[in-house]
Amino acid sequence: MGSLKRKYARNRVKRAQKEIKQQLTMFGKLGNKCDTCEEPYDKKSKEHAMTWNVVVREKENVVRLYCPECWGKANKIIEEFNNDFRIQDETGSLPTEKSQPE
Ligand SMILES: [Zn+2]
Repeated sequence: MGSLKRKYARNRVKRAQKEIKQQLTMFGKLGNKCDTCEEPYDKKSKEHAMTWNVVVREKENVVRLYCPECWGKANKIIEEFNNDFRIQDETGSLPTEKSQPE
């Protein structure tokens, strides 16, 4: 039992290391400017590290970088988009179960 458990744990560590390595590779792809407005990103800036947003799409092997302003705009668009869907849900005859749980 014990050795099996240890083997399992070791495999888990291995997998985690692999994932970290993969993520580091992804971050190596990190650009140095906002993907939307091309505002330069300062990798040495703590403030930038705190406020900028990184979106990793592992499937597409793409890393996107957004400045706080564009991130805010994007979120607003997403929100409006969701609101549109909600309105459609309310007026339409096909209620979806995908809406957020209350
Ligand atoms: Zn931007």
